[in-house]
Amino acid sequence: MSQPVIVGDHVAEVKELPPPDRRRIKAHKWLTEKRMEDYRGRESKGFELYISKLAEEKIRNHALEHAFERKEVMGLLLGGMYRHNGLEYALVRDVATTDLDATDVSVRFDPRAFEKLFASLEEVGFRYVIVGWYHSHPSYHCFMSSTDVQTQRLMFNLRGHSAIVIDPINKEIEAFYLEEGKVRSRPFAIYWDEYQSPYYGTPVRMRDVGPSEGDLGAGA
Ligand SMILES: [Zn+2]
Repeated sequence: MSQPVIVGDHVAEVKELPPPDRRRIKAHKWLTEKRMEDYRGRESKGFELYISKLAEEKIRNHALEHAFERKEVMGLLLGGMYRHNGLEYALVRDVATTDLDATDVSVRFDPRAFEKLFASLEEVGFRYVIVGWYHSHPSYHCFMSSTDVQTQRLMFNLRGHSAIVIDPINKEIEAFYLEEGKVRSRPFAIYWDEYQSPYYGTPVRMRDVGPSEGDLGAGA
C-alpha cells in the first residue's frame, strides 16, 4: 500500500488557485451564533478552509448515523492546499471514513488507529493531500479535548491542518487548528461546484441569465 501524503515539508507544493466563488459558498447551518459572527467577519477576506458540500454531507451523515448510540466517529479530510492573493487555504474535497471502534477515546491519539483510515484512501479517485481530520462529540458540544490536542500535535501540526469537531445531537460544528501550540477556532465555508445542486437544496442562481427571446425588446 502506498504511503498516504500528509501535508508536510515534503509537499511544498501549494498551487495557485482562486478560492470558490462567493456565490458558491455558504455558512454551515450548524454554526453557533458566535461562530456565525466569525464567519461573517471572514466572508470578505476569504477563508482558510473550504469544505465541499459532498464532504460536509459525509461528515454529518457519519456523525448522525452513530449519534443515537452516542458513538464517536472520525475520518480524514482529503483535498489540497492552495494560495491566492497571498492567502493560503485548504480545500476539503472528500473525506475518508472508517468504522473505528472509537468509544475508547485513547484510540484516537494512537497513530496506529489511522492505519485503518489510510487503507480506505486507496478508493479515492483523485490526487489529494490530507489536510486534517474530523471527529464527533455526540451531545457534548464542540471543543478540543486534551486527547484531541494531542492527536493534532502528533498528526496534524501544520498551520494549514484543521480539526473539525461535530456534535450531531446539539447540531453544532466547529473547525480548529493549532497556532504555536494553542488551539484556535477556524472559520470555514461550505462550497459546491457549479454542476452540483446547491447546498441543502436552497435555490441559488448561479449566473445571470440573459433575457429569453420573448423578452427581447420588452424593455425589461
Ligand atoms: Zn474530541
